[in-house]
Amino acid sequence: MKYPKRVKIFCPYCHKHTIHTVEQAKKKTRRKMAQGQRRFLRKMKGYHSFPKENPRGREKPTRKIDLRFKCSVCNKKHTKGSGFRVKKFELK
Ligand SMILES: [Zn+2]
Repeated sequence: MKYPKRVKIFCPYCHKHTIHTVEQAKKKTRRKMAQGQRRFLRKMKGYHSFPKENPRGREKPTRKIDLRFKCSVCNKKHTKGSGFRVKKFELK
């Protein structure tokens, strides 16, 4: 899927339609303990049992795209919905 780099959408801060620049969100790098380790420790706390393995299924063929829209008027970033799934994604 091709997506334009600049789109005119509603800005919740300006309360009107403005031109936004689109960028893909990057993965967060700040991580002290892996999510799996934290989940494991939480599960082992108290009277809960040992964690079971997740049920295995097929892997999803697509990845979810997380877009951030930056307003050109107030320079604030916001998102629109919770992303969507596509195989290929590029900004043009
Ligand atoms: Zn704005």
